[in-house]
Amino acid sequence: MAEFKKGRFVEEYEPIGWDGKTVLEMLEESERLFEESGHYCGVEELSLMKEDPIRYEKIFAKLRGGLVNARETAMNVSASPIVQEIGELCFALYTPEGDSVALSTGIIVHVHTMSDAIKFMVRNDYEENPRISPGDIFSNNIPKLGDVHNADVQTLIPIFWEDELVGWAGGVTHVTDIGASTPGNVPVGPISSYEDGLDLTANKIGENDVVYRDHQIRCELGVRTPMFWKLDERCRIAGCHMIRDAVERTIAEEGIDTYKQFIREAIEEGRRTFIQRVKELMIPGTYFAPAFMDIPLKGEMGLPEYAAIDSVCHAPLELTVGSNGEFHISFDGANKWGYHSFNCPPSAMQGAIWVLLTQTMIPNDKVNDGAYFATSSEFPEYSLCNPVEKEAATGAAWGYLIPAFTGLIRSISRGVYARGYVEEVLSSYAMTMNALQGGGKDQYGNDTGMLSFEISCVGGGARGICDGLDYGAAMWNPEGDMGDMEVWELIMPLLYMGRSVKPCTGGLGKYRGGSGFQSVYAIWKTTDVVMQNAGNGNSFPSAGLFGGYPGACGYRHNVLKADLLERFRKHEPYPSREDDPADSEITKFCKGEHLFDGRTLNYPYRMEHGDIYYSYYRGGGGLGDPLERDPELIEHDLEGNFILPRYLEKVCGAKLVKDNGSYKVDVAATEQRRAEMRDERAKRAVPVKEFLKAEQRRVKNSELDPILKKMYNSSFELSERWGKYFKEFWDLPAAFQFEETV
Ligand code: MN
Repeated sequence: MAEFKKGRFVEEYEPIGWDGKTVLEMLEESERLFEESGHYCGVEELSLMKEDPIRYEKIFAKLRGGLVNARETAMNVSASPIVQEIGELCFALYTPEGDSVALSTGIIVHVHTMSDAIKFMVRNDYEENPRISPGDIFSNNIPKLGDVHNADVQTLIPIFWEDELVGWAGGVTHVTDIGASTPGNVPVGPISSYEDGLDLTANKIGENDVVYRDHQIRCELGVRTPMFWKLDERCRIAGCHMIRDAVERTIAEEGIDTYKQFIREAIEEGRRTFIQRVKELMIPGTYFAPAFMDIPLKGEMGLPEYAAIDSVCHAPLELTVGSNGEFHISFDGANKWGYHSFNCPPSAMQGAIWVLLTQTMIPNDKVNDGAYFATSSEFPEYSLCNPVEKEAATGAAWGYLIPAFTGLIRSISRGVYARGYVEEVLSSYAMTMNALQGGGKDQYGNDTGMLSFEISCVGGGARGICDGLDYGAAMWNPEGDMGDMEVWELIMPLLYMGRSVKPCTGGLGKYRGGSGFQSVYAIWKTTDVVMQNAGNGNSFPSAGLFGGYPGACGYRHNVLKADLLERFRKHEPYPSREDDPADSEITKFCKGEHLFDGRTLNYPYRMEHGDIYYSYYRGGGGLGDPLERDPELIEHDLEGNFILPRYLEKVCGAKLVKDNGSYKVDVAATEQRRAEMRDERAKRAVPVKEFLKAEQRRVKNSELDPILKKMYNSSFELSERWGKYFKEFWDLPAAFQFEETV
């Protein structure tokens, strides 16, 4: 029987929620109960946990084990090195309403983004149309619905017990190409959402565990690397089915009522634990930690005039910690979204909060959406972190997200330091840049879109008690890895000339930021390829802490029409690294058209067999005064080629002596030099009041870079509150605007 409902005929159906409710009714009830009681789903007593703690932990371990097992097994179904080598995938289990219960390892930034995608389906009443049935498969990649950027493709599968929806299994992989206007998977090319590539808008893509053929055809035609796409999709589906099996096994063993009670309690426990941790670890108060990132696109060929401009992203992170464990993150004052692919929707921002909190505040507890329910956040509409405009491109949303959240790490560090947890203190992580990206034809003559996921292995921030981790991981994937060179060579038309430590990437300090590394490539055996660089070159988003230096920004050094092949024939030296750009090995050992400049972000341009592409990966921020750096650590810097000698002398006051061809620190001379440097500092120093006055004059006279004036005016426009704060601080009239000169 069809009934007339919502303006059309709808066939009668049995609700799939609990106790005769629809899933939408369940979600609304869950939100109402949280609002009223402050507890997840109104759960005030953790009775299962209290009455049978061993059983409770066993259930969690079974589910968590099922998720990790699903990931470890399913990643072998994929053929993409981004998934297989780097582990750029993760799986999670959700409640029927879309709240995460437990998750696997991997790129866990996505646990919350998939939650948003499930809630999007529930809120749009997918239960009624297109229906949610056992065996259905859904897929999403739209950040505005719930994702970070478009290349992160999600598979979502409903899990039923008898006739009731008991949850969702979700899996995400970062695909090699998404069919955007420029090739690759973090496309810095789209200037509107209509150029972001293939759109999977939380679509039903299969039923009875089988993917629809029309979906497969659409994807095959829509992306540049259909083989990787297809296997990635199978990997996600296989993992989700393994999770479904694990849940069904658990319910069969424990009973459905226990399972239902468990998933509610696990999230409420996660929420309580988070609040407890905030109280234990942080000093209440407001922490300010802004970050900035440059988007230099002025003069870029191939872009319309309104998009070919230089701009700077403003990420004025403000963390407020309350005495009852409140944890509020605000980006009020962020500037306006723009015609580039760095716009970052709230779902992505939430994902970032989530992944960073699990690495800092709650590394050992039950990690699930409990932490989400314990925190609150603010992303102003129309800003870079809430680009509500449908047109805003999101293909490289990471370009705002990664720099923006260095401020969260610095804020947490200040809070835990104030409580005395020195060993928990971290400086800013490194930018996961340069993104080596390109596309065209690979060495086999097939279409390709590529990005070297070496980027998932950059320097960690300096710690409160030691140097940061060298080329360790990425802020978005704590298990990131650089992958084997041979594997990248297999799939990309590139040949490694060398891969080594890149000196001076980690910021100096009493403790140094973790180092980045460098790769020199030859473009190899392709007849048709375009390449691009994507990274920061004019800003320092990885700020240091407590006097530490920031992680280095980047530059570009690629060579077109290079004489490499001729050098090979003549057995002449070729470049394998560039330790010191002031004494460049690439310049010395390669002739051609050198693109050696600060253009670290650009539109793809053509390169040829034998040309040189250089990529270096950034280092983390330093911590503490570099004049306090232990001479033993300085010797380690020299041995490992982490810092060039002249910077150790200039920044750390080290006196170096050559000993058997290598450098040693003359400790006594260093102490003397440091005393002199401290005297020089004291002579230069002025009282803070005077310093602020001088700065105030600069601000009042608009003596800022024209790009920054535009940035601040845009922030004033979007937030009166933030504008007031800024203008009061600098003693400016309420109606103040910077005079724009560009
Ligand atoms: Mn991704």
